[in-house]
Amino acid sequence: MDFENETLEKMEQKRIDYNRKYANWYKQMSKDMQQEKHLAYAETLKKKGERIKSCMNIWLWDIYRKNKLLDLQKVNRCMNNRFCPNCRKFNLSCAIHNLKKPLNDLLLDGYYPYLVTLTIPNVLGKELKRTIEKMNKAFKKLFGAYSYDLQGKTTKGFKDRLICFEGALKVLEITYNEESNTYHPHFHCLFFSQQYDQELFIKNTPGEFSNKRNSYNFYSLLDIQIMKLWTMYFKEIRVNEKNYNNTKLQDCFICDIREMDSAGIVEVLKYTFKDTDIKSYDVFKNIELAISNKRIRQGYGILYNLKLEDDADGEKLSLEEFLNESEVPSLLVVREIKELLTSYRDYKKISRSKVHEDIIKI
Ligand SMILES: [Zn+2]
Repeated sequence: MDFENETLEKMEQKRIDYNRKYANWYKQMSKDMQQEKHLAYAETLKKKGERIKSCMNIWLWDIYRKNKLLDLQKVNRCMNNRFCPNCRKFNLSCAIHNLKKPLNDLLLDGYYPYLVTLTIPNVLGKELKRTIEKMNKAFKKLFGAYSYDLQGKTTKGFKDRLICFEGALKVLEITYNEESNTYHPHFHCLFFSQQYDQELFIKNTPGEFSNKRNSYNFYSLLDIQIMKLWTMYFKEIRVNEKNYNNTKLQDCFICDIREMDSAGIVEVLKYTFKDTDIKSYDVFKNIELAISNKRIRQGYGILYNLKLEDDADGEKLSLEEFLNESEVPSLLVVREIKELLTSYRDYKKISRSKVHEDIIKI
């Protein structure tokens, strides 16, 4: 990828807008935890704050002065911190890169990809962490209800299921509603099946009235089954025929399944939360408590072993196409993005790491 000046300017702006604020909030949260005698956690938070503050303040480049080229070797980052907007972008491009091949292979093997959204009602900040843990448990059961053993052994899944899924990818997103001071954790997922039955996806059963759209929501047969099972697993209601039949659609949490379109994959992987939602220290604290040390993206079934977090190394593109004349580089250390935009403004700046390819587009 090219780090065009415009891209670097945006990165710098994000650092100014968010990283300083988050660094201060980490400091404050560390003090809070110290007072509550959670000393180890207080120390972790202090370090996280220091790292998010110093993210991207050391850049190591190979400099080719004759060619006016900077080739990125290393940049220090806060890595797995989900609050850092720039690292989130790197992580996302990494996840997309890592998913490309397995996804392609599945499509070539005849799998159909489906987009699934699973929601629950909004919760208060203090309930967020426990709620996400409950959702993770419910998801495991839901996937279990639809999965079957590829070796052809008998299945323990839900016996009246309308379809089988052999793999899934689940991504957590949390939005914040300022008016009610509540959080809306939900899952965006990709499900993979070798089955395809158009009938299951026709949305022709009216559900609840949507004030937003001023019309009824309509659901397909598969929507309804997923809504019922998801709600029952979340509420820890035993799934049997009687309970299933007694579960009314209007009491279910809203879910949706549809065939995946081309924009789907990035949309699924994209957000854990939006920076603009983190309006106050309280919101920051609730989300940090809820998601620290948790996997945001997780594969299931045939996608179980997928690596979706940051992976700094990997294949590199060849340097040849960037050099007009052969030249031995020297090492350049840059402390500030600003320096790249001033002293090295007219240099072409590249990263040859393949995992950085998509960073501009997302
Ligand atoms: Zn960072």
